[in-house]
Amino acid sequence: MSLKMYALIMSFVLQIDSMKYVIIGAVAGGASAAARLRRLDEKAEIVIFEKGEYISYANCGLPYYIGNVITDRNKLFVQTASAFQQRFNIDVRVRSEVVSIDAVEKVIKVYNHNSGDTYLETYDKLVLAPGAEPIRPPLPGIELDGIFTLRNVNDTDYIKSYVSQKSVKRAIIIGAGFIGLEMAENLHDLDLKVSIIEMGNQILAPIDYPLASMVQGHIRDKGVDLRLNEAVVGFEKSDEGLLVQLKSGIVLATDVVILSIGVRPDTRLALSAGLTLGSMKGILVNEFLQTSDPSIYAVGDAIEFDNPITNKSMITYLAGPANKQGRICANNIVLGNQYVYHGAINTAIVKVFDLTVATAGMASKHLHSANIEHIVSTTHHGSHAGYYPGSQQMSIQIVFSPSNGQLYGAQIVGYDGVDKRIDILSSFIQRKSSIYELVEFEHAYAPPYSSAKDPVNMAGFVAENVLMDRLRLFYWDQLATISNEAILIDVRRADEFAKGKIGKAINIPIDELRSRISEIPKDKEIYIYCEAGLRGYLAQRILLQNGYDSVQNLSGGYHLWQAVTNEVALLK
Ligand code: FAD
Repeated sequence: MSLKMYALIMSFVLQIDSMKYVIIGAVAGGASAAARLRRLDEKAEIVIFEKGEYISYANCGLPYYIGNVITDRNKLFVQTASAFQQRFNIDVRVRSEVVSIDAVEKVIKVYNHNSGDTYLETYDKLVLAPGAEPIRPPLPGIELDGIFTLRNVNDTDYIKSYVSQKSVKRAIIIGAGFIGLEMAENLHDLDLKVSIIEMGNQILAPIDYPLASMVQGHIRDKGVDLRLNEAVVGFEKSDEGLLVQLKSGIVLATDVVILSIGVRPDTRLALSAGLTLGSMKGILVNEFLQTSDPSIYAVGDAIEFDNPITNKSMITYLAGPANKQGRICANNIVLGNQYVYHGAINTAIVKVFDLTVATAGMASKHLHSANIEHIVSTTHHGSHAGYYPGSQQMSIQIVFSPSNGQLYGAQIVGYDGVDKRIDILSSFIQRKSSIYELVEFEHAYAPPYSSAKDPVNMAGFVAENVLMDRLRLFYWDQLATISNEAILIDVRRADEFAKGKIGKAINIPIDELRSRISEIPKDKEIYIYCEAGLRGYLAQRILLQNGYDSVQNLSGGYHLWQAVTNEVALLK
C-alpha cells in the first residue's frame, strides 16, 4: 500500500473510531464485506448476522459434494463462525435472522433461532447481503417429500441423505440452468437415471442457441433424458414413486426432484426498510453500492445495477461479483464513496460432463432484444497445437459492433483451455476493447498450451476479415431462405462430403476449386461451407478475386450447422 493510501485510511479510521457496522448475510458478499471492513477499520464494532447455521461456505461446491466429487464435507466451509470471529474480531451471530429494518432509527430486529428471542440492534452503517431465494412455483404437489431446491448447506445435507438413505435410482431435474446441469451430471455420476425438463427450447439461457445445441447433443450422448419445450404442471405421489406431470400430458415417475428453475433477489428486508427497488425487483444501488438510504449499502445476488454494455438494469447471480462488491462496498463505507463499481458482464463457466461451457458479456439474442446492432462469428480451433498430443477443439462465438468492432460478448464450448480463453475475452469485453485488440493479443505459447496463433487471436482475425469485407458470412438459420437459384458449394474433401452434406450442396473440394472454377456460374448467388469455416474462407477469397460478386461463407461451418439442425429436428 502506498503511503498516501495508508494516510488516507488512517485519517478516516481516526474520524470514525466509534463506528458500528452491521452486515446481514454471511456468505459470499457479506463475509467479504465484513472482513474488508475490519482490515480497513480496526476500531469499529462489526456484527454479522446469518440466519443459517454456517457462514462463508462454498455454495458453488455443493453439487459436487452431493455427487461425491468433494468427499470431505468440512472442505465446503471456507471459514467457521468461531475462526472468523477470532481472526477478524467480528461478532458473528449465526441462526440469527434479521426480520426487519427501521432505517429512520437505524435499528434492526433480530430473531434468534436458538433461543426463540427477538431483540433490537443498532447500526451506523448497514450492509445488506441476503442473496437470492430459489423459485418454488405454487404447483400442485410441490410440497411433497422428495422435491428439493439447492441453495445452502442444509438443502445439500437433505438431498445427499435422501439420495443415499432411500436408495434413490431416478432423478428429475427441473430447469437446465447452471445449477440444474451440475446436479444432472453429479446425480448421473452416482448412477441415477436422470431426466432434465426445461421449459425453454434450449439449455443454459445465457448462451446462444447454436452453442447450446452442441452441449445438448453431449448431454444426450451421456444417456441423460433431456426434454426441451416441456413444462412441469404438477406432482403426485404413487406406488411408483413421485409422478411428475408435464404440460404435454406425459407423466414421468421418479424418486427425487431437484427444482432449479431460477432464483429471485431476496428483497424482503429492503422492503421493510423502505429502500427503492429497481425495475427487475432487485435492491437498487448506485455506483458506490449504496442503496436509496445513504447509511445502507447492498451487495451480491440481491442488488440491481446497470449492465455496462447495454446500460439497462440487471441482476447478476454469481459469486465473483458478490465477493468483489463486498470489498468495494467496505472501501466506500470506511473511506467515503470513492470506489466505483463498474457493473458485471456475467462471466460464467460450467462443467457439463466432459465439456466446459463459458460465457462473458452479451449473447446475440440479448443484443437483439436490446436493439443493439452486432455481428456474430463462430470459429473452431484446437486447444493447443494439433501436433502435440491431446489437442481438443473448442468453439468460440464472439459478437461485436459492425461500426467500431467493440467486443460485446463471447461464448465458448470445448474441453481443455476454455477457462483461459473466456477469461481473456472477458477482460477485453470489460474494457470495451475491440476485436482489433484480439488480433494483437500476445499470449504465452508452447505446443502443450496453445498454438502460435491462439484461438482468441483466430477469433479476432476472422472478425477483422468480416469488418474489412474480406469475409462475408451467412448463418445456419439463413439456409432455409436462400433462393432456389443459388449455388451451395461444399468445399470439404469428397470423403467428408460422402458422410453428410447440407441440402442440395455440390462438392468441389478446396484444392480442386481453381481447376474447376468454370463449373461455377458467375451470375448466381454462391454459398460456401466447409467443416469449420477456414476452407470456406479460402474458397471465398479465390472466388471473390476471380470476379464472383456474391459469395458467402457459412459461419461455424458444417460442424455448427449439424449440431443445431440435429437439435431443431428433435424439437419438432
Ligand atoms: P449468498 O452467498 O447466498 O449469502 C446470503 C446469505 O444471507 C445466506 O446465507 C442467507 O442465509 C443469509 N440471509 C438472508 N436473509 C437473511 C436475514 N434476514 N438475516 C440473516 N441472514 C440472512 N456462482 C458462481 O459464480 N459460480 C458457481 O459455480 C456457482 N455455483 C453455485 C452453485 C450453487 C448450488 C448455488 C446455490 C449458487 C452458485 N453460485 C455460483 C452462485 C453464488 O453462490 C451466488 O451468486 C453468491 O453466493 C451470492 O452471494 P450473496 O452474498 O449475494 O448471497
